[in-house]
Amino acid sequence: MKFDTNKYKVYTWKNPLMLHWIINPALVINEILFGQKIPKVSLVDKTSHKPRVERSFVPCPHCETIHDGRTWSPQNGTAFKNWFGLYCNNCGEIIPCVNNVFSLLILALTFPIWGWFRKSLKAKWYEKQAKRYENLEFSKVTNPFDNKNWWITGLKWAAFMYVTMQVIWPLLDGTGITWASLAKGAVIWPISGIFFGFTMKLFTTKKGRRQKEQLLDN
Ligand SMILES: [Zn+2]
Repeated sequence: MKFDTNKYKVYTWKNPLMLHWIINPALVINEILFGQKIPKVSLVDKTSHKPRVERSFVPCPHCETIHDGRTWSPQNGTAFKNWFGLYCNNCGEIIPCVNNVFSLLILALTFPIWGWFRKSLKAKWYEKQAKRYENLEFSKVTNPFDNKNWWITGLKWAAFMYVTMQVIWPLLDGTGITWASLAKGAVIWPISGIFFGFTMKLFTTKKGRRQKEQLLDN
């Protein structure tokens, strides 16, 4: 599929954000547990003056529809449970997604357990898809990182990570919870959360070229 590169910036696995998705072990939780997926190719309209959330697109390689990125959003109930890929509500095919290497490793190791059910799991999942995209509303997709929301969202993420990494993970891997690790986490995660929220604010609200040119013209 060819894209108008004057209009769109094309993002593939070579982009740092996508690479991050592929190599960060923490994102296994997003991928395997929540079924959050990132498409192999996404587009950002360079010419639009809107914030990034409103000028991001996902092309379907099967029917060549260029979907609004907000098609898959928490507000529309479609951001998660996409274990087998992103469903194209135009042609019903699955838009290919990148895979986190640690997810792949876990899936490969546990294949003997779930491999038997793969086909029926996918069929069951697929059956439910069309209905999920019936009432999409892009206007209700707000940016959780704009205005002052960025630090609240960042801290919510930090709280989630704190519980996961400082409480649940040590119980699972057998190292056990210690006061020292709880205290260390109480420092590290809020700082990471604020940093994460702020980076996401800069990223998601970044405006396209047209706005900059207009500002220069004035
Ligand atoms: Zn399609």
